[in-house]
Amino acid sequence: MAADTNLTAVGRLKNQVVLITGASSGIGRGIALAMADEGADVVVNFIGDEKSAHEVVDEIRGKGVRAIAVKADVSIEDQVRKMFDEACRELGTIHILVNNAGIQKDAPFHEMTLADWQKVIDVNLTGAFLCAREAVREFRKRKNVPEGSYTAGKIIFISSVHETIPWSGHANYAAAKGGLQLMMKSLAQEVAANKIRVNSIAPGAIKTPINRSDWETPEAENELLKLIPWGRVGETRDIGSVAVWLASDESDYIHGTTLVVDGGMMLYPGFAEGG
Ligand code: NAD
Repeated sequence: MAADTNLTAVGRLKNQVVLITGASSGIGRGIALAMADEGADVVVNFIGDEKSAHEVVDEIRGKGVRAIAVKADVSIEDQVRKMFDEACRELGTIHILVNNAGIQKDAPFHEMTLADWQKVIDVNLTGAFLCAREAVREFRKRKNVPEGSYTAGKIIFISSVHETIPWSGHANYAAAKGGLQLMMKSLAQEVAANKIRVNSIAPGAIKTPINRSDWETPEAENELLKLIPWGRVGETRDIGSVAVWLASDESDYIHGTTLVVDGGMMLYPGFAEGG
């Protein structure tokens, strides 16, 4: 390890620019704020809620770093290209990409429309591909390693425990997240030689708009807690802190893996009493 690299606990992402997709709400917003706290400049991608995106930008700027909001649909190639162009023009380059944007369109398998299948694949899987491809192009073009980091760039996919756990009524979502896992690993294998570090975070149940009905009443939350040995539903800061660490040089030897952040959801809690 080089002696002049940045391993201090504060400012771990100083002099680095991060682009986070779907960052006007939920987990993306949480990651944006956590990374800004560590000194990163932030590109807040959004699709719908412009007001919320600008509120996130204002909050980040209040921390003394740069931030811009860029509207783009991650599933549309041309919009993704333009988003990266704008981000690089405004903030110089990108060092970290967090592929967070995602949707659910749930239905029993026999009732799922092709449109709902396709939309989830387009946003959750193809969108992640399009953004990762632009990031890899930028990292390879820039070549030089940013001050205070070992790598030419880092990519983090926000996957899900459902990259592993089958999910009845959500076949499109589980298929997209399962696909993300092997895309992430294949990309990690391919770009290690370019000093690009690629990993995923698989959240369990985190309180955000995407799953509001699962936690907003005490009854729903109690039902959900049966799946979580740790005894609480996750908060966006649980993912933000892990994303910061995974983007920092503290995790320099972690490459091509999924960090599960789920309060033990993947431990088969139904077997806790012996099955
Ligand atoms: P959320 O709905 O708050 O966030 C999703 C964001 O993606 C929204 O801001 C939305 O506007 C944006 N988005 C949707 N389609 C887009 C598009 N085409 N282009 C750009 N942005 C788009 O929900 P969240 O829970 O914060 O979800 C973030 C990610 O975390 C998703 O990938 C989701 O699958 C994943 N995840 C969430 C949980 C959870 O329990 N909340 C668990 C596992 C994985």
